[in-house]
Amino acid sequence: MLIVRGRRVVLPGGERPASVHIQGGHIVSIGGEDETPSGAEIVECGGLVVSPGIVDSHVHVNEPGRTEWEGFDTATRAAARGGVTTIVDMPLNCVPATTTVAALEAKRHAARGRSHVDTALWGGIVPGNEADVEPLIDAGVRGFKCFLVPSGVSEFAHAGERTLRRVMPVLARRDVPLLVHAELPEALRAHRGRPESYRDYEATRPVEAELAAIDLMATLARETGARVHIVHVSSAAGADAIAAARAEGVPITGETCPHYLTMTNDGIPDGATEFKCAPPIRTPGDREALWRGLDAGTLSLVATDHSPAPPSLKCPGDFVRAWGGIASLELSLPVVWTAARERGHRPADLARWMSEAPAALAGLSDRKGRLSPGYDADVVVWDADAEFTVDAAHLQQRHKVTPYAGRRLCGVVHTTFLRGTRVWDRGALAAGESGHLL
Ligand SMILES: [Zn+2]
Repeated sequence: MLIVRGRRVVLPGGERPASVHIQGGHIVSIGGEDETPSGAEIVECGGLVVSPGIVDSHVHVNEPGRTEWEGFDTATRAAARGGVTTIVDMPLNCVPATTTVAALEAKRHAARGRSHVDTALWGGIVPGNEADVEPLIDAGVRGFKCFLVPSGVSEFAHAGERTLRRVMPVLARRDVPLLVHAELPEALRAHRGRPESYRDYEATRPVEAELAAIDLMATLARETGARVHIVHVSSAAGADAIAAARAEGVPITGETCPHYLTMTNDGIPDGATEFKCAPPIRTPGDREALWRGLDAGTLSLVATDHSPAPPSLKCPGDFVRAWGGIASLELSLPVVWTAARERGHRPADLARWMSEAPAALAGLSDRKGRLSPGYDADVVVWDADAEFTVDAAHLQQRHKVTPYAGRRLCGVVHTTFLRGTRVWDRGALAAGESGHLL
């Protein structure tokens, strides 16, 4: 038996001194801090925080097909180092996109033997693949993702209302969620001004585009009964629209990302395309509203939208041509914690937003996201007071482009356990790939 014990163990009821008893990859019981049977291997955590492993429900691994952008090996190394024990991979930016069972199998083949943490998969909805939806559910996808605007890659077309009206009753009947990139094309604007100006880029994707998309999805969720989850909510208006729909009983939830919670449009230098993402990073008022949305439960979770690309595609200096996407799988815990602690939040809040809620979204709440008997022994041991400066060159992700370079952050991961096995331990990755496909 393995026992992880300490004074700050984050359990479903809150943080307290405890010991986590692990056998066969599972948590078998939770005891008092001193309840340790003889003969057990004991990991003494003292005042370090012992949290459930992070479940990141929004990751673009890009393998197969765009493995030069990222890949299962590098993405899951980054995850292990960041305390992330499960990723749920998005259906696009890989080739083929995960819109058929054959493509799903190609992705599983790519992930097998290359993953350092557990991986679950989202399927994709594109115009014309309506007949693939139920076979994909039968084959094990945890739900679906669609775009309402061009996605940036030609093989993943955006869905319109007609496609959604066909598939959403099926999703409702099968009780799987629809994750939506919520911007409507009608509200986007042509670029005007300087390509190096962040504000001129931001103006092409106004809040109205997000708001109109959320309103459409709330209507469709109400009419079809399908569970809708709005990914990467970026604005106060977006969060308010979700809250209003939820108040009427519409089955709609939302997430936001570390960058929307910690960055604002007034702090982005000219030409700094490492900050480019869509929807864009907005005002300080939007940022504060997203924190309130988390507090109120309007936004149920924080996921990274880890979406890397080679440095050449980030087109330094040119926000118009640059690939939109921020890779932060490895840094989400310290980025969110640094800002959350300043607002009086506790590690238990992070566990709710970054472990429990994303596990529930992906239909994994019977085995992931909590330190409870019967759950997988996915545990992250971290120092909530230690600080470090982000050194981009030493990130595990394939490309070292990050808007967090040089940032001073609080929260250092010491050890990440995946099903009771150390996959990251004090600065080093364990040998071997022990990640499972879920
Ligand atoms: Zn994404």
